[in-house]
Amino acid sequence: MRKAVIAGNWKMNKTIKGAKELIALLKDKVNTDKVEVVFCPTYTALSTAVEELKGTNIKVGAQNMHWEDNGAFTGEISADMLLELGVEYVILGHSERRQYFNETDATVNKKFKKALKAGLIPIVCVGESLGEREADIQKKIVTDQVIAAFNEIEASDAAKSIVAYEPIWAIGTGKTASSEQAEEVCRWVRETLDSLYGTETSQKVRIQYGGSVNASNVDELMGMENIDGALVGGASLKEDFASIVNFGK
Ligand code: PEP
Repeated sequence: MRKAVIAGNWKMNKTIKGAKELIALLKDKVNTDKVEVVFCPTYTALSTAVEELKGTNIKVGAQNMHWEDNGAFTGEISADMLLELGVEYVILGHSERRQYFNETDATVNKKFKKALKAGLIPIVCVGESLGEREADIQKKIVTDQVIAAFNEIEASDAAKSIVAYEPIWAIGTGKTASSEQAEEVCRWVRETLDSLYGTETSQKVRIQYGGSVNASNVDELMGMENIDGALVGGASLKEDFASIVNFGK
């Protein structure tokens, strides 16, 4: 059985003060051992989040990292710098990073390898654009992204990873993929991992759905065979996140 993992991607929201307030609002409501819960604040609020969440089961993740250990990479953050703060997860290749910061399948793969080597749990994002969905090429797009991301990653590392399927047309738009659409692509992701590593490994990888997940659609999404969690943007900044984590109740 795969343990469900629900992560809140706060994006570029919340100062340290705001992060403290949000954590105070949510902490007790989402502190469970039934679901793995991860808060992904901005870099500046990571230390605060680690501190404020001590003594709970809630983990902290970053939204990005660089693949090098150190050096002349102005504005970047390394895996060791995140680990030093007590960060345990890292989101990689989010569509906003791909779209606005020129991240490519190749750089996502470098980051993925580094995160695993450093001992962080990567949440690797894949997903098609609206144009690609309309052209009905979403299977090829997502399959190619998964193959590229997992290039040269060993089965034992692959098994520890989380893949987030996030159709770009559903992110921040209020337009959720139907549970059937989401399940179909998550199944393709697992089938791709199956062809790369075999069933034992592919069955261990957790696959999240992300894209306008909210308290009303989470139950249906989480009921799908290949959906093992959610990556939540907008709704992770409010009390709704507690209802999402406590899905099915
Ligand atoms: C996201 O950015 O990862 C996301 C899924 O955002 P939202 O939930 O707001 O669509």
